[in-house]
Amino acid sequence: MNYYSTNNKSHRVSLREAVIQGLAPDNGLYMPEGIPVLPASFFESLSQLPFQEIGFQVAKNLIGEDIPTNELKRIVDHTIQFDAPLVEIEENVFSLELFHGPTLAFKDFGARFLSGLLGYFANQQDKEITILVATSGDTGSAVANGFFNVPGTKVIVLYPSGKVSDIQEKQFTTLGGNITALEIDGTFDDCQRLVKQAFMDEELKRKLFLTSANSINIARLIPQSFYYFHAVAQLKGKQNEIVFSVPSGNFGNLTAGLFAKRMGLPIHKFVAATNKNDIVPAYLKTKIFSPRPSVQTISNAMDVGNPSNFARILDLYQNDFDALLKDLVGCHYSDEDTVNIMSQVFKNSKYCLDPHGAVGYLGLKQYLKSHSSTVGIFLETAHPVKFKDVVEGAIRQMVPIPERLNVFLKREKHTIRLTSSFSELKQFLLLSL
Ligand SMILES: *Cc1c(COP(=O)(O)O)cnc(C)c1O
Repeated sequence: MNYYSTNNKSHRVSLREAVIQGLAPDNGLYMPEGIPVLPASFFESLSQLPFQEIGFQVAKNLIGEDIPTNELKRIVDHTIQFDAPLVEIEENVFSLELFHGPTLAFKDFGARFLSGLLGYFANQQDKEITILVATSGDTGSAVANGFFNVPGTKVIVLYPSGKVSDIQEKQFTTLGGNITALEIDGTFDDCQRLVKQAFMDEELKRKLFLTSANSINIARLIPQSFYYFHAVAQLKGKQNEIVFSVPSGNFGNLTAGLFAKRMGLPIHKFVAATNKNDIVPAYLKTKIFSPRPSVQTISNAMDVGNPSNFARILDLYQNDFDALLKDLVGCHYSDEDTVNIMSQVFKNSKYCLDPHGAVGYLGLKQYLKSHSSTVGIFLETAHPVKFKDVVEGAIRQMVPIPERLNVFLKREKHTIRLTSSFSELKQFLLLSL
């Protein structure tokens, strides 16, 4: 399978190039040149297939022959080392729990698949690969942990100082080894801009083997499609229409869901649920896409003012606004709505939402109000303990810390502080050679 840039369909590269470049040279995002529909036999047996087998079939469908079958199987098995269970919390309302990985958030899937692929590609050359990643919280911890001690790779995480939770911060600032954390005086959007600038810089490109692990990397998206299939498999053939509500920031998860639908998964509708950073819901209402600086919320992994995967969504629909509206509805919620619903759901169902899942739940319930026979699934993207203070304030009860997190909390943070000026980052990168 080849991949094209959203800015220029005739610019086509191999999987290897798309994954190592991350962003296309013309600043576009890579898309698979085809998203084939999976065979009927796959869907007939879907509810019996193990998660790893589903992942392999889906990956093979999007990647083709670029990776030998046994290697691809190994990479998918390495990616799926934990389940994504579907939990019914009310009648026909399901939570797809994506937080059972090592850093307790869905980004573990993308990070592990990417590290598997890059490990495979690094094997075929001899220059160290530097992974440059901007994070508003969860990406940094997932990528740092996914690549920790992977030979031939070095990870540099940029994050906005004071704008990620303590637990998140500890997960990527305490590892050491091949992981370096840069604490930036600025917002997540500044961090994302710095990473984009680094990739456009000729001198850096010449001297370093730079690659990205942000959700712009196509290798992050591919495994995110796996769990939409796995979720539907777990419904065991319920005949109702299926809607997915996706709490969104950069819209990688939602784009992966749209891929799944293109591959033939019978999803009736997607809900794009955001916090106050409602750029995409506003677009769906007004047809005007107007990025603006992000504002801080309690669902901070979704505090994104210029969602990068929007370009992929437009590309998938070839700018056909009406076709997009058939598949996607938007909605957005305040922090107050979010806290209230966390408290209410805990009271009524004894289910503890995290602030991101809560936004997804809100979007789902709003949709179900006018579509009562639908089966609704929202993505629960992080374990509530990652946002302990907010969650405990809402449910008025302690959330116990799992042991795998406690290990991080006991370690000491090591960071390098930089301003949001690109020249400072560039100097740091050149000195790190
Ligand atoms: C990254 C993240 C999101 C947003 O996902 P996108 O794919 O960027 O839309 C939502 N929830 C959590 C917990 C996250 O870490």
